[in-house]
Amino acid sequence: MQEKLRIAVQKSGRLSEDSLKLLKECGIGVPNGNNQLKINAENFDAEILFLRDDDIPEYVQDGVADIGFVGENVMLEKNKATDIVERLGYGKCRLSIALPKTRKKLAIKDLDGMKIATSYPFILNKWLKQNKIKADIHVISGSVEIAPRIGLADAICDLVSSGSTLFSNELYEFETILKSEAVLISGKKLSPARKQLLEKLLFRIRAVKKAKY
Ligand code: ATP
Ligand code: ZN
Repeated sequence: MQEKLRIAVQKSGRLSEDSLKLLKECGIGVPNGNNQLKINAENFDAEILFLRDDDIPEYVQDGVADIGFVGENVMLEKNKATDIVERLGYGKCRLSIALPKTRKKLAIKDLDGMKIATSYPFILNKWLKQNKIKADIHVISGSVEIAPRIGLADAICDLVSSGSTLFSNELYEFETILKSEAVLISGKKLSPARKQLLEKLLFRIRAVKKAKY
């Protein structure tokens, strides 16, 4: 039987639409699946797996999926054995440290001793170490932006795109620690047939990108 390339895509969220659109521009049709986890692609030997974005790096590492469309922020945070094979140019955002508006004019060193709430402890910890700052990381999974107001933290480290969420929570962007975009990641042990399918897909993605810019 012909092997299929198993492609992980975020089930529903900010990356879903653009990822499916890119596949479509590559001539790969994804039929409406009525909430199915897995669906056969049209015009290409591929299966699409719909997953939570947080699960994609692990599934790609473990070979449940061969490749996945995911935010670089999630890929780096999960720190799994996967490779970035292409940067995709959408899903752009920043991972930034934000402070309450009342605390202006701080230097990076002033983060010392602060309690910082985040859903990105791995990336934040690495950045703090690089900058020789000793801060206390408080991990929360959602609504990080309310942490300072309810007295849970002095600062936050969260994803920002327009800054409107920060603004409405009386926070300001203090320091960007990562600039992120959607990336295509691959596992390290694809079979020769699947590698070939990936090459075919990459060729098309690059052609689509070239036509755009
Ligand atoms: P899931 O239910 O799959 O876990 P989620 O709520 O964790 O979804 P989304 O909010 O859909 O994730 O964001 C997915 C990705 O979109 C982020 O990891 C990031 O790479 C990108 N992104 C782009 N702009 C933003 C933004 N302003 N806020 C959050 N994520 C953004
Ligand atoms: Zn998620």
